[in-house]
Amino acid sequence: MQIFFVKNIKQRQILGILVLFFSLFLNSDLLSQTSFKVVLDAGHGGKDPGKHSGKYYEKNIALNIVLLVGKKLKKNEVQVIYTRKSDVFIELKERGNIANDAEADLFVSIHCNAHHTQAYGTETYALGIHANERNFEVAQQENAVIFLEDDYHDKYEGFDPNSPEAVIGLTLMQEDYLDQSLLVASYVQGNFRNNLNRTDRGVKQAGFVVLFQTSMPSILIETGFITNVNEGEYLNSKSGQEEVAQAIYDAILSYKKHLDDNVVIEEIPVLVSATNDQNKKSRIFKGVDFKVQIASGKKKLSLESYNFKGLKGVERGKIGSYYKYYYGKSSDYDEILKDQEKVKKQGFPSAFIVAFKDEERIQVSDVLNSDKN
Ligand SMILES: [Zn+2]
Repeated sequence: MQIFFVKNIKQRQILGILVLFFSLFLNSDLLSQTSFKVVLDAGHGGKDPGKHSGKYYEKNIALNIVLLVGKKLKKNEVQVIYTRKSDVFIELKERGNIANDAEADLFVSIHCNAHHTQAYGTETYALGIHANERNFEVAQQENAVIFLEDDYHDKYEGFDPNSPEAVIGLTLMQEDYLDQSLLVASYVQGNFRNNLNRTDRGVKQAGFVVLFQTSMPSILIETGFITNVNEGEYLNSKSGQEEVAQAIYDAILSYKKHLDDNVVIEEIPVLVSATNDQNKKSRIFKGVDFKVQIASGKKKLSLESYNFKGLKGVERGKIGSYYKYYYGKSSDYDEILKDQEKVKKQGFPSAFIVAFKDEERIQVSDVLNSDKN
């Protein structure tokens, strides 16, 4: 009996060690599979100082903040990839390449604003059509760096940063990640506003070339105006940079948690969408399926209506590593507009229309501008 008992303990110990070993092994395996990768992009660098005002240089402030955010993230087992870690010049396209090669989950570009007035406050951008002159101006300033690059004309396919229209073609490329990008952006602005008492100039959209280069949720943060007497001093100070970095770090973790929690649906800011006020004739496109995209996320959700605020008949698709959730299906653009209205009222304010041909995603604008048949 006693021998059996001892043996039993030994067996238990061996079993225990085995369990421990396998659970560690499994955990680390699981961790590496699900590890969250963030690309941190310090704006400008090297021969491109970005904005500067007196002794304040955007490239230095952006880099300091980026390094602080990275340090915090690494402590939290988030994988961090930097586009630059020192004062070097990196082309916009290369920044995107770094992010895409890393297959990152999120791209965060950090900048400072400047203005000839004493304007102040923070704003966070996702790629989109600039809704007003000021948003365009900000994007134009950030895009101007391509003039410092060799062969920029070839590299950016003739893109002209000074043309407000040039950007429209670009914006659709990030459409798949728009809802996620806007969500992270709203976390960042929320933290600036609530935790730091900074002036919140809002979540915005404009045509930033650096955001167009990436195929993942991507945001660009204008951390404040170095041309404002107080804000410039704050952004250039150690304590200011530490605070800003903390707010950005917290926002990234909130976003990660949001993904981990498998909650793909959340209220995000309502945005002005591009209008297509064409003549009021029928807009039926044979062979094209329009759908309303209501959500997207990395986790696979069951299509039960309780996952979609009571909406029935939701369809799921997959693009890259993202599951997409669609509602409605019609080759009549006006029918899908009605569906879009319906789901917006149902609690998906950022729902947008997508188009498919032979199961392939195509650009809605291309369809609308094409000849119907
Ligand atoms: Zn900048």
